[in-house]
Amino acid sequence: MDSERRLFRDLGRAISSHALIADGDRILVAMSGGKDSYGLLVLLRDLQRRAPVRFELVAVHLDQGHPGYDGAPLERWLAAEGVAHHILREDTYSIVTEKIPEGKTYCSLCSRLRRGVLYAAADRLGCNKIALGHHRDDALETLLLNLFFSGKLAAMPPRLVSDDGRHIVIRPLIFCGEADLAELARRRGFPILPCNLCGSQTEAHRKQMKSLIAELEARHPTVRASMLAALQNVVPSHLMDPALATRPEPGAALGEAVLPASELARFLRPA
Ligand code: SF4
Repeated sequence: MDSERRLFRDLGRAISSHALIADGDRILVAMSGGKDSYGLLVLLRDLQRRAPVRFELVAVHLDQGHPGYDGAPLERWLAAEGVAHHILREDTYSIVTEKIPEGKTYCSLCSRLRRGVLYAAADRLGCNKIALGHHRDDALETLLLNLFFSGKLAAMPPRLVSDDGRHIVIRPLIFCGEADLAELARRRGFPILPCNLCGSQTEAHRKQMKSLIAELEARHPTVRASMLAALQNVVPSHLMDPALATRPEPGAALGEAVLPASELARFLRPA
């Protein structure tokens, strides 16, 4: 199967298994100008043409005031493709550089500010959902980051209601592989905006998780698929969170072989 068909299949799987899109939705598509955001928009537009439900897409790009920023290639592309779009300008760069001490990574505050701007834009533009371009490999790296460095088991949900209950954030690409999105970007020649204008390096730990997964994959080719399956196959009774403790279902196969009492008695009977 070629990468484009696989992307479309994975997009469809995420949307149907997590009820991401419904009839009448008006979806704000967050366009960072990176390859994943272009892929998200292109795939959703393709779906829009084929799906039995009617939904609207509004592309939104935020100029965050980075020195040297030039969003013109993205604006030209959106106009040429005939995509309804809005370009917002908010100088979050100044806030981030003022608040974060030198040498620390900006990304956490930067993305929280960006999310706030997008939520407000969704309200103004009458959008009930916000689509983000995070893909499978973002979710797997986040899972490992949380596991190794934050002491929690968490990744990225395909669908999340915001804290105030007013917005639904959806991640339609959450089953899509990054390599397929990169291939799509190459084939379609998306005019990608550079993402290093903020001077912030991609988080070092995230890079390490990316390499770790790639190393594992070289020895175990199905490791990404297995990790993704694990995120959809959680066994709370076999974790240690007291808030999740449940009694296992009788006869549930949970991977801990226990001898039936009769067998045990036979083994333990004195010779
Ligand atoms: S890489 Fe730069 S623009 Fe992107 S989230 Fe981090 S600080 Fe913000």
